[in-house]
Amino acid sequence: MKNIKTVNLRGKRFSISRSRRLNPDILGWCRHHKKPKIVVAYSLDGIEELEILLHEMLHGCYWDMDEEAITDTAQSISKALWRMGYRKEVKNSNKNATPRRRKARSKRK
Ligand SMILES: [Zn+2]
Repeated sequence: MKNIKTVNLRGKRFSISRSRRLNPDILGWCRHHKKPKIVVAYSLDGIEELEILLHEMLHGCYWDMDEEAITDTAQSISKALWRMGYRKEVKNSNKNATPRRRKARSKRK
């Protein structure tokens, strides 16, 4: 995911970020009230990343839609886009920075 900080969903600005600290069975979440925010798991990539981003953005657009409809829609659209060849550009992505950050941290110990 390119390092953008916000997305505009139906006229509302959401901050968007990746987190390494999510519970392992939680891939993302969305809050639409107060400070609108989307967080997705740092470990996501490929079609799963696309699906979870769609999923959380759909929650942001249609916060009152039930979970099953959101899940079905995100799965269908991510599969269709993936089959059409849509992929993330990897240069300058957060993932490329991971090994460097980890090294820097362990040196500081
Ligand atoms: Zn959901």
